[in-house]
Amino acid sequence: MIHNFNAGPSVLPQSVLQEASKAVLNFNNSGLSILEIGHRTPLFESVMNEAISLIKELMDLDDDHEVLFMHGGATVQFMEVPMNLLNENETAAYADTGVWSTKAIKEAKLFGKVNVVCSSKESNYNFIPKDFTVPEDSAYFHVTTNNTIYGTQWHEIPKVNMPVIADMSSDILSRKIDFNSFGLIFAGAQKNMGAAGTNLVVVNKNILGQLKRPIPAIMDYRNHIEAKSMLNTPPVFAIYVSMLTLRWLKENGGVEAMEKLNNQKSKLLYDAIDNSKIFKGTVVKEDRSKMNVCFVMEDAEKEKAFLDFAKQNNIYGIKGHRSVGGFRASLYNALPLSSVEYLVEKMVEFEKDF
Ligand SMILES: *Cc1c(COP(=O)(O)O)cnc(C)c1O
Repeated sequence: MIHNFNAGPSVLPQSVLQEASKAVLNFNNSGLSILEIGHRTPLFESVMNEAISLIKELMDLDDDHEVLFMHGGATVQFMEVPMNLLNENETAAYADTGVWSTKAIKEAKLFGKVNVVCSSKESNYNFIPKDFTVPEDSAYFHVTTNNTIYGTQWHEIPKVNMPVIADMSSDILSRKIDFNSFGLIFAGAQKNMGAAGTNLVVVNKNILGQLKRPIPAIMDYRNHIEAKSMLNTPPVFAIYVSMLTLRWLKENGGVEAMEKLNNQKSKLLYDAIDNSKIFKGTVVKEDRSKMNVCFVMEDAEKEKAFLDFAKQNNIYGIKGHRSVGGFRASLYNALPLSSVEYLVEKMVEFEKDF
């Protein structure tokens, strides 16, 4: 058995993979593949409707918040958010906590003014900034709730009196949070929610429609709301896999149960790192991510040896991102506790024998 700690695309529940592969051959006994049915057929419409209603239920959304499944991944949202929400003469506030925030900031500057209200760049993004204020006249405040590459996470979202825009690509549905308090949430599906190719957007419809610039039809959230995510051909298979994953999540106790499990998994691994003499965490303790655990060794030769050892032992995807080095174990919802127990066991074994 392979233990898959990939950062994204990443581990999916076995039952989802089985169901999805059946649907590729014969979807719901239709005799057709999920890949060859029209998106405007009742067969696919029921998939889309179920995916949307599962999101509403799992996130406990109110009637102001609309659920969209869109194309293009989270990166498209870096551009689409300011295109829909930032007038040319206005300023948006951004928290700079890593590569993804930096990309979002760069795109926003194409549409209006950007005020980077805080940054942890000076220390290679190993903490979450705390002491800063967001000017009251900001159009919105943008935050990356979990920093996939550096392994930091906002455990508390700052309270501000303007719409909060959250990139939740790598911690969506991983913990209980008041999702209704956000103006807009987006998440590429391939980390914690499904397969690459679709992007979840949850938007408070009241923040839309206050813009002077014309918006291309395919980029305008209001059109997608009106068309119920069927403005053009949606990424059918990616949405289907997300729907199956959301079903699995509900059957396994929903967000509350995931949070409990994620707390357990991350504590187990961080404790192992803190108790080790050769492994060392890279992030300020209070800001450690429960999704992506980053750690290093002092000795580069030993790091290579541990990577080889991990590979021999069917531990997959723990090489750290090049900007941090060392290791990164991603503990997304679908990763079983037993995989973390196994990794910890192997870390202890390696420390004893090498
Ligand atoms: C992976 C990631 C992205 C980019 O997602 P794409 O779907 O590849 O565009 C953006 N933000 C965060 C936090 C990520 O982890």
